[in-house]
Amino acid sequence: MKITVAGAGYVGLVTSACLAELGHIVTCIDIQKDKINMLQNGRSPIYEPGLESLLEKNLRNGQLQFTINPHRAYSEADIIFIAVGTPEMQDGSVDLKYIHVVSHTIAHYIEKDVIVCTKSTVPVGTNDLIQEIIHSRKPPNLCAEVVSNPEFLREGSAVIDFFQGDRIVIGTDNPETASTLEQLYLPLKIPIIKTDIKSAEMIKYASNAFLATKISFINEIANLCEKVGADIEEVADGIGRDKRIGHHFLKAGIGFGGSCFPKDTKALVQLAGNADHPFELLEAVMKVNNRQQFLPVLIAKETIGSLKDKKIALLGLAFKPDTDDVRGSASLTIVKELLAEGAVVRAYDPAAIPNAQKILGDTIEYAYDIRFALQDTDLAIIATEWEQIKHVPLDVYRTFMKNPIVIDGRNCYPLDKVQKYPMTYISIGRPAVN
Ligand code: NAD
Repeated sequence: MKITVAGAGYVGLVTSACLAELGHIVTCIDIQKDKINMLQNGRSPIYEPGLESLLEKNLRNGQLQFTINPHRAYSEADIIFIAVGTPEMQDGSVDLKYIHVVSHTIAHYIEKDVIVCTKSTVPVGTNDLIQEIIHSRKPPNLCAEVVSNPEFLREGSAVIDFFQGDRIVIGTDNPETASTLEQLYLPLKIPIIKTDIKSAEMIKYASNAFLATKISFINEIANLCEKVGADIEEVADGIGRDKRIGHHFLKAGIGFGGSCFPKDTKALVQLAGNADHPFELLEAVMKVNNRQQFLPVLIAKETIGSLKDKKIALLGLAFKPDTDDVRGSASLTIVKELLAEGAVVRAYDPAAIPNAQKILGDTIEYAYDIRFALQDTDLAIIATEWEQIKHVPLDVYRTFMKNPIVIDGRNCYPLDKVQKYPMTYISIGRPAVN
């Protein structure tokens, strides 16, 4: 099948490379010329494990091509995947401008019957809107069927998630269209859920909202553990062994970030409000998360007093390990607060420095080496549990820092290990080690 993917971001690129790997002829289109130039030269504009080799291989064997030319991308496509961004607006609702533009463009350039699959996360009802836009502008002799096909990949393991996902959701009322997509996904041997468009759209939001709720729940239990002297690691293990609960997403820390959970929880709250159904539970989830992201700075002030002119090492800028994405990252909140307190910040990250630099500019120093990040600092904050950070030997903190005071926002080190070192170590939901 001839497939076109609109959007060469985290979702669009992974979808393009993986569908090409399955044997389809894939054209990926983006409006950013620089990105497409890079991709045409076999370089990935994002860091995603396993992606670059798939891109290289499929570019070389002609299965995959990149373009900014909409005629080339859309005129011959059998299936078009929409993977453009749906960022949040100031009021928390979803900005659908990219969806609008791409729908108009598709309608203008198609020259044969086509299935249009929306992978972008869009509020319930948006696929009907896409259908309306395309129907009212496409050539009248052509058929364009819009399907909701929400994406569940996780940055950092997106390629594996494509090939080994838990489920594929196909939202359409047209059995023929559902069957074509089923054929496309069949080689993956992943369970397929066929449903109506609105339920498919809601499955995506409800999934992310549930996971966000699980994280805020365990973080609240962690905060309580600290007050009453319990250890969150023991508690999470005890809870997680109940099969109805499971161990996933029970890791206490400084909250969730990324381009999806914060945006999608806000969007669901908005959607609920518009439907006259205040979603109080999810409002609390967001409130807890916002508070949690500030926690390291509060702890820092409690531990060393004023942060004015204090040198602070921030270990991790990405919102989670194995990605260069800093959107919604707790680190950005932490930097903002530290700078407001007058601290001097030096940050380390194995992949996310270029993206962080686009937002933070030269307000902080950047370190490509953990030891340099720690050198002569008064305090260190661990914000992302990269393997490179988790495996820093504890004596490194003592050797390089002015004062070995570590606030571990991701509970990277076992307490019994830390206890052997003369350092101040404060983590989340566990007793402090002094
Ligand atoms: P992204 O910002 O990384 O990429 C979006 C791309 O779309 C950009 O490169 C942009 O230039 C391009 N674009 C915008 N308008 C275009 C147009 N008219 N034609 C072609 N390209 C256009 O976004 P992302 O992280 O890949 O997310 C895309 C969508 O998938 C969002 O709705 C997001 O919520 C959803 N999603 C993301 C993830 C994730 O982990 N990133 C997971 C599941 C779902």
